[in-house]
Amino acid sequence: MSLTKYEFRAQFRCTNESCGKTYPLHQVIYSCESCGELLNVEHDTEILKKVSAADWKSEFETRFRSPQFPNSSGVWGKKEWVLPSIEDKNIVSSGEGATHLYDASRWAKDLGLGGLFVKQCGISHTGSFKDLGMTVLVSQVKQMMADGVPIKAVACASTGDTSAALASYAAKAGIPSIIFLPANKVSTAQLIQPVSNGAMVLALETDFDGCMALVKEVTKEKSIYLANSMNSLRIEGQKTISVEITQQLGWKVPDWVVIPGGNLGNVSALGMGFELMKDLGLIDKLPRILLAQAKNASPLYESYKKGFADFSPVTAQKTLATAIQIGDPVSVKKAIRILKKFDGVVEVATEEELSNAAARGDLYGLYNDPHTGVALAAMLKTLERGEIKKGETVVVVSTANGLKFTEFKLGFHEGKVQGVDERLKNSIRSCKPELGAVMEILLGQLQNS
Ligand SMILES: *Cc1c(COP(=O)(O)O)cnc(C)c1O
Ligand SMILES: [Zn+2]
Repeated sequence: MSLTKYEFRAQFRCTNESCGKTYPLHQVIYSCESCGELLNVEHDTEILKKVSAADWKSEFETRFRSPQFPNSSGVWGKKEWVLPSIEDKNIVSSGEGATHLYDASRWAKDLGLGGLFVKQCGISHTGSFKDLGMTVLVSQVKQMMADGVPIKAVACASTGDTSAALASYAAKAGIPSIIFLPANKVSTAQLIQPVSNGAMVLALETDFDGCMALVKEVTKEKSIYLANSMNSLRIEGQKTISVEITQQLGWKVPDWVVIPGGNLGNVSALGMGFELMKDLGLIDKLPRILLAQAKNASPLYESYKKGFADFSPVTAQKTLATAIQIGDPVSVKKAIRILKKFDGVVEVATEEELSNAAARGDLYGLYNDPHTGVALAAMLKTLERGEIKKGETVVVVSTANGLKFTEFKLGFHEGKVQGVDERLKNSIRSCKPELGAVMEILLGQLQNS
């Protein structure tokens, strides 16, 4: 099918409904000039609707995991819904997206669920879903630079994964990158990624929220472009997660989507993906959303308990789920709008709960990072409470690759996390290289199981 006859269009629009000011996508702007609220990328859906739902589905299916650039990327295979105006030559892609939807059917059976799937967003170039948004942002920057907009560098504050993604995509495009990290609060793997990619890495004696405040100041200088998720270009790429999930379920909407949240950009993105699909007639219902927070950094949970009547930022406490150790989430208003619309639930996970849930999932073949652990723990608690019902279909969004969190995995099995379920721990047995000694251990073990 040829879609070239249509002129797909998008622009920024202020999220404050009583303002609604619009800006072109090539303007260096992250929040509204008149009212200060965040912006969204708004697509001209009248043009998108000229293509039928059936045609969009078959088009997306044809492009999925294509060997050809740019459809080799799950994000750019949905270009008309993401960033229609980009020229292919300015797309900076590392083959992000089109990740596996892991069918944890044995676990679903044990839990009495109709289906349990894990969307493996962490199986990506830099090991987290942040690649999905960063390919869009860096591509747009490359387009703007080609069009003569004077941008010298891209910058972000990060709890680890954003900086890894930004540094890599910027390096691929040949654009300098600047990274603000909270000192001693990210994993070794996360820290060494931007270092390796040649970014300017600044470790600051503060937390993520402190880094975020600073990068906002720095990027008031318009030649340094802000790459945090308050820049809604990132949301556009992350939105494709919902389209992929639905496509991978045969265009069926699951009953629940579980998302671990920190700065709350991703829950907003997934919500907007489902909204657009519904608007264009690809689906006829919305899933419920379960937003999962680490108990030690759960300002949205406090607000949820009060029916979202108000929201107060907190100082986030230390958590193993370092990427969501955020007390003052930038996208909180967007997230609350989505949660209200999607009959949303917020649940928290303690350090023990997130550790146990990650380890439990690993015994079904997964290899969970602590953030996916938070999502899994929230799912288990919500199921136990009866809010997620037996027989329902649940998709858990895994946000990072477990391989980035070796310290977390080792710590669990070496018994360094207090209060965890001993039965989930595994150990390495040292053994003499002799058949007798080997058999003694094996037979003893098999008898116990
Ligand atoms: C960034 C991140 C999150 C949180 O996403 P938000 O959009 O900030 O809510 C969750 N998990 C991992 C692994 C992340 O890197
Ligand atoms: Zn405004």
